[in-house]
Amino acid sequence: MGLEERPAALVGTESYRARRPDVVGPEEPQKPFPILLSGAVQRGFGRGGKDLGCPTANLPDESITPMSSVTEPGVYYGYAQVSREKDGQLVLSEEEGKVLPMVMSLGWNPFYKNERLSAEIHIMHEFTNDFYGHHMKVMILGYIRPELDYVSREALIEDIETDKRVALKSLARPGYERYQSDPFFQDDVAQPRL
Ligand code: ADP
Ligand code: MG
Repeated sequence: MGLEERPAALVGTESYRARRPDVVGPEEPQKPFPILLSGAVQRGFGRGGKDLGCPTANLPDESITPMSSVTEPGVYYGYAQVSREKDGQLVLSEEEGKVLPMVMSLGWNPFYKNERLSAEIHIMHEFTNDFYGHHMKVMILGYIRPELDYVSREALIEDIETDKRVALKSLARPGYERYQSDPFFQDDVAQPRL
C-alpha cells in the first residue's frame, strides 16, 4: 500500500466515540481470525505506555508476519500468554502465566518511516514486574476499532479504557471463551524463539 492510500485517522472521531458499542464482532471469530503470533518481548520506544496506565508489550518485527493478511491499523482483541520462565528461571507467578485477555494496537511504525506495521499488546492483568525477554504467545480473535484522532491525552486514556471494557465483554462469549484453552497455549514444548 502506498503512503497516499493509507487511511487517515478516522474522520468524525467525536461522533464515533459517542456511539461505541460494548460488544463487537460476530458470535464467534471469523476469518482471518484467529491469528497466532509469538516471540520474545522486546523493549519499545518507551512512549509512555506505563504513564497512560497501559503498558504495551512489543513482539519482534518478524513475528508480526502472520498479521499481514490484516493491514487495517487499529485496535484488536484476543488472548495472550507470557512464559513464566526466562533464562531457565521461574520469574512470573502462576496467575501471570495464565492465558489472559488482551488488546492489541496495530499501527504504522515511526521507526520505519511508517512503512511497516507494528503490534503492541496490553494484557488485562496487573503484573508485579516487567517481562522483557519472556516468550509471549498472542491470539488475535477480533477487531475493535480503527485508529482515532487524538485531541488530548484524556481522550486517549478514555479510548483505551473503553477498548479494555469492549475486549472483556466481547471475549466473554462462548464462541471466544473456548479459545482460552486452545492447544496453541497448552503446548509447552520448546517454542521457536524469534
Ligand atoms: P515499552 O516502550 O518498552 O514497550 P511500556 O511502557 O509500553 O514500554 O511497557 C511495556 C512493558 O511493560 C512490557 O514489555 C512488559 O514487560 C511490561 N508490562 C507490565 N505489565 C504489562 C501488561 N499488563 N501488559 C503489557 N506489558 C506489561
Ligand atoms: Mg510499549
